[in-house]
Amino acid sequence: MIKVNKLNKSFGDHHVLNDISFTVNKGDVVAIIGSSGSGKSTLLRCLIDLEKADSGDIIMEGKPLLNAGVYPIAQDIRAIIMRMGMVFQHFNLFPHLTVRQNLELAPKVVKKEEKAQMNQRCESYLNKVGLLERIDAMPSTLSGGEKQRVAIARALMMNPDILLFDEPTSALDPELTGEVLSVMQSLANEHMTMVVVTHEMGFAREVANKVLFMDSGKILEEGTPEDIFNNPREKRTQEFLSSIL
Ligand code: ATP
Ligand code: MG
Repeated sequence: MIKVNKLNKSFGDHHVLNDISFTVNKGDVVAIIGSSGSGKSTLLRCLIDLEKADSGDIIMEGKPLLNAGVYPIAQDIRAIIMRMGMVFQHFNLFPHLTVRQNLELAPKVVKKEEKAQMNQRCESYLNKVGLLERIDAMPSTLSGGEKQRVAIARALMMNPDILLFDEPTSALDPELTGEVLSVMQSLANEHMTMVVVTHEMGFAREVANKVLFMDSGKILEEGTPEDIFNNPREKRTQEFLSSIL
């Protein structure tokens, strides 16, 4: 589904992604873990074209978003990133729009979706994240966990083939983390393909089928949760896990 090959990215002389290669298959839940500054957000941002990489390949369903360091024309890039959704640490809801308007903006503007169908899908996704009764609320009246669940429903409105999450629970109080993780767990149960940057080792262990450990811009270790959490090969992985667990 996504194949990343020897991806490199520098900011000035700071080499932030260093020969990153990995594959995401359909239905995978890939957890990306690693210490602060290791390049996790930059990697996700490159996957969805919020950041341009310097070299390498990013192939999405056989179509290049980046091909040997070269980007295709804007229209082709757009066609690829339209199939991905992203959920950010700080929700990024539009504060001046209601929950419904947040969900319906992109389908209306980008897909010119018919109103009745859009309304129906909006209601069904809000129901799925347990927030149908807040459909007319303004984001400022929602808790952090509710905002994040709205952000997930909003991402689903574009019918993505893959969802990218960048620390979706790290801005939340611990008691609100569970409600967001359980929505993500239910998406995983429905075989949604997901790439999740997370500090929630419980989620990585229980829900992910593949874990990537990033350190200083490299994928230092990759494996099943069992491999990474029970038998980490690398000393840096062991140190990271003992610092966080
Ligand atoms: P965290 O766990 O703190 O979110 P991260 O693994 O997501 O960290 P990134 O945000 O990808 O790390 O940052 C990797 C490195 O790249 C950091 O040293 C950061 O300062 C640097 N960096 C990120 N974005 C930029 C930018 N736009 N300009 C310059 N440097 C940047
Ligand atoms: Mg980050």
